[in-house]
Amino acid sequence: MVDLIIDRRDVDFVLFEQFELQKFCEQSRYKDFSQETFEMIINEAIKLAKEEVAPADAIADRQGTRLEDGKVIVAEAFRAIYDKYAEGGWIATANDPEYGGMGLPVPLGLILSEFFISASSSFMFFPGLSVSAGHLLEEYANTSLKELLTTKLYTGEWTGTMCLTEPQAGTAVGDICSVATPIEGTDRFKITGSKIFISAGDHDLTENILHLVLARVPGDPEGTKGISLFVVPKYRFDESGALGKANDVTVTAIEHKMGIHASPTCSLSFGENDACEGYLIGERAKGIVYMFQMMNEARIACAVQGSATANACYQLALAYAKDRVQGAKVTDRSDDPQAVAIIDHPDVRRNLMLCKAYAEGLRALLVQAAVYADRARYHDDEDVRHANQDLYEIMTPICKAYATDMGFKVSEWAMQIHGGYGYIGEYGVEQYMRDVKIASIYEGTNGIQALDLLGRKLRMKGGGLFMAWLQEANKAIMPNVKHERLADIFENLDKAKNTLAETAFGFSQAGKSDPEVVLLGATPFLEMFGQVEIGRMLAQQALIGDEKLQAIATEKGVSGADGFANLLAEHADARFYDGKIKTARFYVNTILPHTRSLSVEIKNADRSALDIRF
Ligand SMILES: Cc1cc2nc3c(=O)[nH]c(=O)nc-3n(C[C@H](O)[C@H](O)[C@H](O)COP(=O)(O)OP(=O)(O)OC[C@H]3O[C@@H](n4cnc5c(N)ncnc54)[C@H](O)[C@@H]3O)c2cc1C
Repeated sequence: MVDLIIDRRDVDFVLFEQFELQKFCEQSRYKDFSQETFEMIINEAIKLAKEEVAPADAIADRQGTRLEDGKVIVAEAFRAIYDKYAEGGWIATANDPEYGGMGLPVPLGLILSEFFISASSSFMFFPGLSVSAGHLLEEYANTSLKELLTTKLYTGEWTGTMCLTEPQAGTAVGDICSVATPIEGTDRFKITGSKIFISAGDHDLTENILHLVLARVPGDPEGTKGISLFVVPKYRFDESGALGKANDVTVTAIEHKMGIHASPTCSLSFGENDACEGYLIGERAKGIVYMFQMMNEARIACAVQGSATANACYQLALAYAKDRVQGAKVTDRSDDPQAVAIIDHPDVRRNLMLCKAYAEGLRALLVQAAVYADRARYHDDEDVRHANQDLYEIMTPICKAYATDMGFKVSEWAMQIHGGYGYIGEYGVEQYMRDVKIASIYEGTNGIQALDLLGRKLRMKGGGLFMAWLQEANKAIMPNVKHERLADIFENLDKAKNTLAETAFGFSQAGKSDPEVVLLGATPFLEMFGQVEIGRMLAQQALIGDEKLQAIATEKGVSGADGFANLLAEHADARFYDGKIKTARFYVNTILPHTRSLSVEIKNADRSALDIRF
């Protein structure tokens, strides 16, 4: 079994030094919390993730899931931890206590989910989908359904799913064929149709499952504008929540897949016997709007899967590189060269730095997005809420696509650091790599995220979202371009940010002439944006690191190169802060140059991919 290593020092740094979570307690919503309570909750979550969830995952990944007599059986190991997880209140950490949530700040909820996803991405489908299904019902269901069902989902008594995909309707969700027919004299609808690839679509962890199903009422418009949203239970229930008979939802198959083996991916048939009933959520034909809330939350959850993978794989690779002895240092010219740990080889160190930069940068990026989300939802001041909603909207596709692509990439670097052992199951990286790949595909493929960024988010409010982001970036960069010790980092970042802005403005002209060519630039543009955003996060960290390192040096009376070298050898915090500066410097010199080459690719506007006859 792989030991799950969570870098608590970095988690604390991001939460309490970079984003100052303790200051959230000044807001009325969080006044009953303190830094101490946040830290206690983090301790408990890490304990559960390491001691219970990760060991269960190792077994569950081998056991997988099976379909027996039309019912899905999940790995035995998940049953005990599901109950513990639900009873501990871990499902709805950042949701309303009135319905069974913990009411924590969104950034803390996100970090807690990172721990649990690192421990088991397969397991997290059950609570993860439940909380976003519950949140959707809390927001849009009528009062009686909301009060009954949201609590069931937040407390884990029942679980939730999202049912969009059909065989002929994947990305093109407007092509769904599922039908909902009003049942006269009731508030219910008859549901018929087939859905595929439904995560946690059936299982034996809870007594009931609530499916959030997109379907069309006959006569409503074609395409996404005619889609409605229904909550369809596996078992019917009365107004007290007591279960009735089965609701004619059949599991027709489960998928055998590359990763997330312990998460059941189901094909579901609704109403094979004309006896499946569902309740309309909100207004008819507005289903896609409501479902977007769940999809956006799931997109951030995908991003967390990327960041959790990057962090876990970096820790595994670091521990392995310190331990594995192989070859001598290139500078050892003695007759009898000493074998060294592979961490002493430059190429391995470069790979480790790539892993570190992305692992730490992605964690910060997602916490930043969660800060925007929290302020957008809960801040006392309406203007602050609107401004943060804009930033959150533009960040969502970048977080989803860049974090999942780079999470996969970090798993690849980490595997490379392990050599042949990385390819072997017991070292851990292999499972992370196959588990994370799906995150770049579901919840809107990463290609679709790039189109969303370029085609929608960049144009929204006449470019206002991008301008709001640019202002944020300038606020972080401009005061520091002449920094005594970090000017090089901020100058590099400033150049990359300007390249990104020029490219964004360039799109508005190009779009009028040849829209297809413009779309060829969507994925490179999202990549550029991701690169600059990680740069912004790491540069902010370097700034804090520099300030704290100088303070330690002053306190210890240290000066000069030798003094600093001794300080780093002896003082763990000094080493940590110095590491932040070196990571940012490495990143702006190693990754940010690629921002320029991506901008050249976009400017070249090469049509060959469109013109070639495949
Ligand atoms: C393990 C797993 C779990 C899943 N869980 C769920 C779930 O819980 N609920 C659910 O509803 N679905 C779920 N899905 C489905 C998933 O969301 C879809 O697979 C995904 O949205 C892509 O749809 P598709 O597979 O039909 O690919 P397609 O839509 O056929 O796309 C194929 C390729 O074409 C590209 N493409 C398609 N259309 C366009 C376009 N207009 N412009 C540019 N490029 C385009 C895509 O980016 C992709 O690269 C799951 C899938 C898997 C494999």
